Amino acid sequence: MYEDRERLAAAWESELEVFRAARPRSADQWQRAIEHLPDGVPMLWMAKWPGPWPVYVESAGGAHFTCVDGIDHVDLCLGDTGAMCGHAPEASVAAIEAQARRGSTFMLPTEDAAATAELLSARFPLPVWQFSLSATDANRSLIRYARQSTGRRKIAVHDFSYHGTVDEAYATLDADGAVVSRRGNIGAPVPLDETTAVVQFNDIDGLDAVLRTREIAALLIEPALTNIGIVLPDPGYHDAVRELCTRYGTILIIDETHTFSAGAGGLTRELGLEPDALVLGKSIGGGIPAAAWGMTREFSNAVRESLDLEDIDVGGVGGTLAGNALSLAGMRATLERVLTESAFGNMIARSTEWTVGVQKTIDEFDVPWQVTQLGARAEYSFRPTPPRDGREAADADDFELQQYLHLHALNRGILITPFHNMALMCPVTSPADVERHTEAFREAVVSLYG
Ligand code: PMP
Repeated sequence: MYEDRERLAAAWESELEVFRAARPRSADQWQRAIEHLPDGVPMLWMAKWPGPWPVYVESAGGAHFTCVDGIDHVDLCLGDTGAMCGHAPEASVAAIEAQARRGSTFMLPTEDAAATAELLSARFPLPVWQFSLSATDANRSLIRYARQSTGRRKIAVHDFSYHGTVDEAYATLDADGAVVSRRGNIGAPVPLDETTAVVQFNDIDGLDAVLRTREIAALLIEPALTNIGIVLPDPGYHDAVRELCTRYGTILIIDETHTFSAGAGGLTRELGLEPDALVLGKSIGGGIPAAAWGMTREFSNAVRESLDLEDIDVGGVGGTLAGNALSLAGMRATLERVLTESAFGNMIARSTEWTVGVQKTIDEFDVPWQVTQLGARAEYSFRPTPPRDGREAADADDFELQQYLHLHALNRGILITPFHNMALMCPVTSPADVERHTEAFREAVVSLYG
């Protein structure tokens, strides 16, 4: 906990002044936008930035964007991973443009579908693939498939996980260990304990207790938590997860939407995991809506054999534009030519530099914070040691402090992921981009602790 709240409040006010003075054109756009858009944004999450009004973007390329006030920013948010491939990557844009000119959506496959499935099968240990427009929808689809193939009703998730706007995944544990709705669950459809069991990350005994009920169709997990800060798995944790899912007949779904930052084959390949299903999304389309889910042949066949062709279009999985030709063109080009093995080498090297830079300042001022790296992604949090589970990570939250640090960075032309203290590197993030953050971060810490 940062104690000197008066100092924090004063620092916040002075950064607000800097923001207001530098961004009059964004203010103009916002004034216009609030007439017809709640909070002046097309999707309400975009209101969760620090500052009196949002920053409106003019254009972007690679690791940078320019706002309507003409300010250049190093983008370490990258659309919260949607642009992990960098903004407007040339190979993806060319393929998307060419496909758009040939038609984007037919309810029929193009050659890119098989090619993309081959690329994914080469990177991930799953041989069968389907496509959707968002990671949320991929997760939702897999939950249905798991229920269908197991005949069970419930799923299990980690406490403080996030898997998109999937109703069943909005569960958390209260102080007594009961499953309840997470905070802010808008219009919750049913009590969460009817659909979901929750376990702490890294808690093997807790997982055993939940799965041994044999009520759980699917265990939906990130292999490392990334949505409550980064929480890494203990050695052996994933061996136990795999073993318990097999023992109790639960489908293991690994959601790699964020942890894809660990390398070209995600954390699944880094750790040699063996899921029954795996989800990718956000960045794999090169900046356009696209997601994919992989399955073992056994799981895929079990589902397929249970479906009648007649019902397949209204069976609860899929969507009119899912697997459309434009998404597939974007995914194929992005996997073949943008998010390549060598691109990950650069991304991870920059992320290591970023982590070292943050750690140096933490050490210099003896600040009780820690920084954790996960491949091309890294994040600091307001506690002295890395958290071991979501509860520990959540307890270190300090929204005001976070907002201040984000605004401070923004005023120095650096965008950090809004819901986290997280930085993500794209294939063309440069050492100079990282250095800009390292200097600004030190300056921010001096303003609080110096
Ligand atoms: N899974 C994980 C792990 C995520 O972090 C997110 C989004 N932050 C999603 C799924 C959902 O992605 P989308 O909002 O693009 O559907």
